Amino acid sequence: MPRPILATVHPEALRHNLQRARQLAPDARVWAVVKANAYGHGIERCFEALRGADGFALLDLAEAERVRALGWRGPILLLEGVFEPRDLELCSRLQLWHTVHCTEQMDWLAAHKTQAPHRVFLKLNSGMNRLGFTPEAFRSAWARLNALPQVEEISFMTHFSDADGPRGIAHQIAVFEAATADLPGERTLSNSAAILRHATARVGGQPLAADWVREGIALYGSAPDFPEHSAADWDLRPAMTLASRLIGTQQLQAGDTVGYGSAFTADGPMRVGVVACGYADGYPRHAPVGTPVLVGGIRSRTVGRVSMDMITVDLSPLDAAGLPAGVGTEVVLWGRAASGEVLPIDEVARPAGTIGYELMCAVAARVPFASP
Ligand SMILES: *Cc1c(COP(=O)(O)O)cnc(C)c1O
Repeated sequence: MPRPILATVHPEALRHNLQRARQLAPDARVWAVVKANAYGHGIERCFEALRGADGFALLDLAEAERVRALGWRGPILLLEGVFEPRDLELCSRLQLWHTVHCTEQMDWLAAHKTQAPHRVFLKLNSGMNRLGFTPEAFRSAWARLNALPQVEEISFMTHFSDADGPRGIAHQIAVFEAATADLPGERTLSNSAAILRHATARVGGQPLAADWVREGIALYGSAPDFPEHSAADWDLRPAMTLASRLIGTQQLQAGDTVGYGSAFTADGPMRVGVVACGYADGYPRHAPVGTPVLVGGIRSRTVGRVSMDMITVDLSPLDAAGLPAGVGTEVVLWGRAASGEVLPIDEVARPAGTIGYELMCAVAARVPFASP
């Protein structure tokens, strides 16, 4: 018998969350961002549910090959472009659209022999200072690309650093408007946070979400601006459940401690349950005592430190309600319990000092996924 831990992907939640982007950006085409193996959910497990997107955006060429192998003939965008010249051969062969964010990528393209010219997204560094051409270099980069026979169509991309927070996006929109004014081409600016929080923003007199939006985290049902907003506030549903079971229980008396470092001390009689899930499964080791968990569909909390293969949970809420809790009882670490109760991944990430993105991407290889 394998350990009882199991991850499940919810296709109906993916469909619903994709639909949320359609509602908020009705004029835009939607890239389903499936980098990092669909944020840990598995590209193959998500593909059918996300077929309704207009394209798939990712950054690993092997992942692009997997999306083509699933039969997708529509647009695929490489968000970081190519990493070396020979990647361009794969772009030609699989008709991948690719970002161009630096002069090296333009040099490689200029030297590339292709029958079918490429569609490229020229990336502007509008203030995030990660990838992209500076505003000063942007026009000459466009002019050079525009003169290349290898290039069929040029679109414009930038990425927001603060769409989820108080600084917002206005300063970057101003830079984007100035750099792209009167250059012809489609645009893509919005990530999930911009889709959700800046649905009415405008760029160059057009809706911010006019051409293409890039929906990542919201597809998977985590709020990019938690705790200011929860996934439920945005009407997003969890696309993943990580669940396991109790494999043991202990009766504690006042003064008894739990786990390594005796990080939890009982102040009276209580029962604790031991869950088959630890940091080697991707559960965050920094989750403190009190991190929420669903035991038998009832909200409870962790007690004691997270260890490699186990965590310990408080059974008091179930005992107080006269509900059974013992070996075999369902424990949901995040996602949806059999009872329908939901524990948002963001509520686990936050006390552990991280974000939903990291937890969903970090589910360990040893955790099996339910077959659909
Ligand atoms: C990952 C990524 C996105 C998606 O961001 P979310 O916050 O997950 O919506 C969009 N654009 C680029 C360039 C990215 O790398």
